[in-house]
Amino acid sequence: MVSILAAIEQIACKHPERTAYRVDDMTLTYHELWHFSDCVAHSISKRGLQRQQPIIVYGHMSPFQIVAFLGAVKAGHPYIPVDTSIPPERLQAIIEASEAELLLSTEPLHTKVCIPVMPVNDLTAQLSNETLEPISWVRDEEIHYIIYTSGSTGQPKGVQITADNLANFVTWMHEHFTFQESSVFLNQAPYSFDLSVMDLYPALVGGHTLHAISQEQITNPKALFDSLAASKTSIWTSTPSFAKMCLMNKEWNQELMPALTTFLFCGEVLPPAVAKEIMQRFSHASIYNLYGPTETTVAVSFVQVTEELLTQFEQLPIAPVTNQNISLWEDGEIVISGPTVSAGYLNAPALTAKSFHLQDGKRTYKTGDVGYEKDGFLFFSGRKDYQIKLHGYRLEIEEIEKRIESLPPVSDCVVIPIEKDDEIVSLSSYIVLHEPLTDSAFKMTKQLKASLSDYLPSYMIPKSFKYMETLPLNPNGKIDRNRLAAWGTV
Ligand code: AMP
Repeated sequence: MVSILAAIEQIACKHPERTAYRVDDMTLTYHELWHFSDCVAHSISKRGLQRQQPIIVYGHMSPFQIVAFLGAVKAGHPYIPVDTSIPPERLQAIIEASEAELLLSTEPLHTKVCIPVMPVNDLTAQLSNETLEPISWVRDEEIHYIIYTSGSTGQPKGVQITADNLANFVTWMHEHFTFQESSVFLNQAPYSFDLSVMDLYPALVGGHTLHAISQEQITNPKALFDSLAASKTSIWTSTPSFAKMCLMNKEWNQELMPALTTFLFCGEVLPPAVAKEIMQRFSHASIYNLYGPTETTVAVSFVQVTEELLTQFEQLPIAPVTNQNISLWEDGEIVISGPTVSAGYLNAPALTAKSFHLQDGKRTYKTGDVGYEKDGFLFFSGRKDYQIKLHGYRLEIEEIEKRIESLPPVSDCVVIPIEKDDEIVSLSSYIVLHEPLTDSAFKMTKQLKASLSDYLPSYMIPKSFKYMETLPLNPNGKIDRNRLAAWGTV
């Protein structure tokens, strides 16, 4: 099986001047990536950390982030990518839960943390010509990265991906998709989301170029489309939500991006209308709907979206039924097995035992997704729990509720996803306070939102706050979420 680091080293030797990564006007060649990550690995190894002790990498789309990732794994440590959109208290919770003892940063940290912080920039300036021997690299069943996702217990949970998981995923990508030599891969998702892994490693292992777009560009349409037009992207990886946003610009089409041949969508439902519109605008491109949770390394299945498929079904399938690694249990739950199933949640054996099992010697993961089979395909029909996707972000409703309930004025809280045209568009919260409101509801909402923003990223903070004397109950005595959802209909 491919060794991720060995494959990247080969590219760095064969094509040292080839661009590995670019963002804004910064670029990084394969030689620089290899050399700088050696410098980082050296500095890490001098610190005497225990092998496999996680290292936090904090930043946003900087080339030095991928330098830090490779530096960590060369020194035998998994890295935990934390995007700058993650607020300080959540970062603190991740440091505590992961027992990380080092943070590498590529952006200024606006908060004090209890572990040493090293700017990656400084480490790469300490010139070192030694390269760490492959014996020290993360390998086999050791952990390569840990991604924290929203957790229903009120705390984020760290999904541990092994070197073998990642190598199997990259091999699968290279087997099923054709990438022409020296292609350009779009990198839209920040590294704290596993969608970013779909372009990062398949691109680096194949010697391609990653073209990253920053949040700043995404919020400035002119900068975004100028960057896309200049990028020569041929492989597009994003959430369907991001593509939907791009579709609002009529000029986003094959003319603007003539090299684009492949759309890889993953992470949430791909609405047929989005796929149809893209098909019309990009006549030379193929569109794929990929499926998989972070816990099984990015994606485990795909279906090519064709005109026939769009006429045959009202909803797009996520896998052919022949996919050996996916099965549907009697209650409709989608269960995934095989070599990309994660080693479980870091330092959380009870949570791990709930979702991960060994079956016939193979690791399996109960996804919590519900599906059904029809005409040779598997379809996604929803969740068994309160996990949702909002604009492509994975959220546990219970985590938001627990966090709101932990605020001093709040006694009870329920958060309801608000849907429009079968898609979740926002969150509403219904709140019972300890004391009746003495001031305006507006002021209370402002205060609660400000407290929440220390802990929750902005996409997890409900849009509306409604104050009630009690929450409505259904005949079973449970909170009547259906009634609240009906109130909140857009
Ligand atoms: P994440 O861990 O952020 O990748 O989220 C994984 C979850 O996103 C899955 O368990 C599904 O609920 C959902 N998901 C991922 N891909 C798809 C897809 N192609 N169609 C529908 N839902 C998807």
